[in-house]
Amino acid sequence: MTSDFKKLAAIRGMNDVLPDDSYAFEALEAILRGWLARYGYLNMRTPVLEHTRLFTRGIGEVTDIVEKEMYTFVDRLNGDSLTMRPEFTAGVVRAAIEHNLLYDRARRVYTLGPVFRHERPQRGRYRQFHQLDVEALGFAGPDIDAELIEMTARLWRELGIDGIELEINSLGQLPERQAHRAALIKYLESRRQELDEDGLRRMYTNPLRVLDTKNPAMQELANEAPKLFDFLGAGSREHFDAVCQRLERAGIAYRINPRMVRGLDYYNLTVFEWVTDKLGAQATVCGGGRYDGLIELLGGKPAPAIGFAIGMERLLDLWGQCAELSRPAECQVYMIHQGSSAASQAVVLAEQLRDANISVIVHAGPGSFKAQFKRADASLAQIAVILGEQELESRQASVKHLRATQLGQQPPEQQRSVAFDQLVTYIQANLEQEV
Ligand code: ATP
Ligand code: MG
Repeated sequence: MTSDFKKLAAIRGMNDVLPDDSYAFEALEAILRGWLARYGYLNMRTPVLEHTRLFTRGIGEVTDIVEKEMYTFVDRLNGDSLTMRPEFTAGVVRAAIEHNLLYDRARRVYTLGPVFRHERPQRGRYRQFHQLDVEALGFAGPDIDAELIEMTARLWRELGIDGIELEINSLGQLPERQAHRAALIKYLESRRQELDEDGLRRMYTNPLRVLDTKNPAMQELANEAPKLFDFLGAGSREHFDAVCQRLERAGIAYRINPRMVRGLDYYNLTVFEWVTDKLGAQATVCGGGRYDGLIELLGGKPAPAIGFAIGMERLLDLWGQCAELSRPAECQVYMIHQGSSAASQAVVLAEQLRDANISVIVHAGPGSFKAQFKRADASLAQIAVILGEQELESRQASVKHLRATQLGQQPPEQQRSVAFDQLVTYIQANLEQEV
């Protein structure tokens, strides 16, 4: 039968994470959860789909994400416009408002999962990628601003990541941004002929974002533009100085980048990014900032907040460059058997081992002893348990150590016999806990 179907493949920019890579992802996730718990952050989860207007309001109409990157479609059943979340903050804030999460206290929360942006796929830039999103809702700072940055610094340290640098800036408050905006528009008008298409379109709608350009031809123009930093009032400066002082006390080096404006429209005061030159064209691993106006903007009782997001794929890439990760074993014990009675006995013994919290694979399907030993080796199990006719008769399993259990120690060549009712005890005593 011939088929007209094109070979099925994943959507461009949306990656499968296969078992040989997934373990690193899971190991990283486990480290992240432990690290977050040590700072009192609790997990929450929000839907992948939200009403489009949440993002147009929450992120801002004149942003890369909303203008070009969202996966938006109409719900066939009721005509609603829906969007696959391109980031987490808007959804987390929506949920916090909807469930009155801040009614009695400020909240430290985090969430982790896939987000979607229609971008040109390349290393470190995908259409489905994963973010760890951390939000401190209801905190005015500056102590919490510094704590969030210190937290991330600890994470890089614990993961053994180097070559990552901190950039910070202050976006001040609305009136300060308005004064700066007027000066900026004047400046952009004076250099109108140098603006690219995005720049021309945004110069009146969102002039600050013109400075966020990735266009190399516009870097000089952006560098010479009036700096928001010079328009900050005393309160904003105090907040910023307090954050900087605490970072200095904590021994965290930073660079003030007056051009950093970040992706959201409603960021204010502290913004920061961790950047590296180890990821090719992509520089930012982690970005965050304060968004004191967002909760009110989305219909909640006014409350300050700050958060950051880490790009998981970029962090994994970086971590892989700095740390040695070895493929984990599929199991600790691999059970080899021949004959139908041995197969039944293998299942019984395997269950006893699992009761003792030992991971076991019972060979499935046919296979000679030799073929089964090959599979056992490939599984990276520490111990093979062999059951054949002889073993059933004597009610003693043959046990073989497949690899050195301690550094430098060779696996014993010989098989040894262990009585069925001693097997759990024997294996418990001989397994290396962490290999
Ligand atoms: P960039 O300037 O690289 O486009 P961004 O400002 O759009 O980043 P944020 O919206 O702050 O990024 O998202 C937080 C983090 O998510 C980034 O620092 C980055 O690590 C990661 N990230 C952003 N876009 C992608 C993508 N398309 N693929 C993979 N990771 C991404
Ligand atoms: Mg982007």
